Amino acid sequence: MSSLRKPDAAGEASELRRLALFPALSKYLFPVSPDGSTALRDYRILASLVGLAGLVALAAIPRMPALVAPLGLALGWLYYLIFARRERRRLKLLNQPFPEAFRETLLQRVPLYSQLTELERRRFEGEVAVFLGEQRIYALGGLEDQSESSSQVRLTDEHRVLIAASAAILLLGRPDWRLPTDRDIVVYPSSFAEETYSMESNAHTIGMVHAQGPILFAIGAIEQSFPRRPSWLSSGGLLHSTPPFAHSHVGLHEFAHVLDFLGQQGRSTGVPVSLPPGVQRQWHQQLSVERDRLMDGDSVLNPYGLKNEAELFAVSVESFFQDSARLRAH
Ligand SMILES: [Zn+2]
Repeated sequence: MSSLRKPDAAGEASELRRLALFPALSKYLFPVSPDGSTALRDYRILASLVGLAGLVALAAIPRMPALVAPLGLALGWLYYLIFARRERRRLKLLNQPFPEAFRETLLQRVPLYSQLTELERRRFEGEVAVFLGEQRIYALGGLEDQSESSSQVRLTDEHRVLIAASAAILLLGRPDWRLPTDRDIVVYPSSFAEETYSMESNAHTIGMVHAQGPILFAIGAIEQSFPRRPSWLSSGGLLHSTPPFAHSHVGLHEFAHVLDFLGQQGRSTGVPVSLPPGVQRQWHQQLSVERDRLMDGDSVLNPYGLKNEAELFAVSVESFFQDSARLRAH
């Protein structure tokens, strides 16, 4: 029996090695990112196909020396180096340890983060880390941390994490969605005028996204979007009346506009093209229903949404994350 078991055991071990080899190989060649995104894997598969096509094309040329054909593989490598650059950088950022101070900020100021599972928290942190690694955020008047004397904004890492958390909330559960990184984020010391960007006394704009320009935030509005305590506690406790619509969240609002601008050549229609076509149609109809409800005074959305479709989408996003129970019940 033992003489029979030995070949079997060796065969099993060999089989196990073979089985372990392929997942390890495919994990290396075609990995799914820690955030659940398949984008890098897709790039590697495409690069392999491009390389193979190059190989076959060169091999098919008559009288071409056989040693030249493998150079076709270089095409795949070139494709990968150029087109997967953002995804490769993203993976590098995801693999770096997340700073404990940032985690503390999320725990203290982002209620949604505390409600996530451990895996979701790691992914949320990943989005924050990637956002901070890719996105330029600076105070009005400079690219680096500014002293109050030069810009009147003291932009801290905590502010940066809160801005990043606003984007991460929108991207949660959508590992293959990407926000553009070509818009700088400029933080103003106070509200500003929509037309002139001056901080005159009656200016009331707290956030803005240009069609092809930067994202602007008033620093106070970022602070208020992530109150250290629930605002109903700090403004009168349980006796304080429930506000008619969700508390404003400038981060969610402006990043909703950024999503809306994606792929629409500088337009924002209130119906993001990143949604599947069927969902786009449904959402378009829903916007119409909600506009009528707002006109009738029978909506839980902020009436600012009546300004246009893009604003209606942005205030809907705010309500979805800030007041989801009432939104669902309505
Ligand atoms: Zn808006």
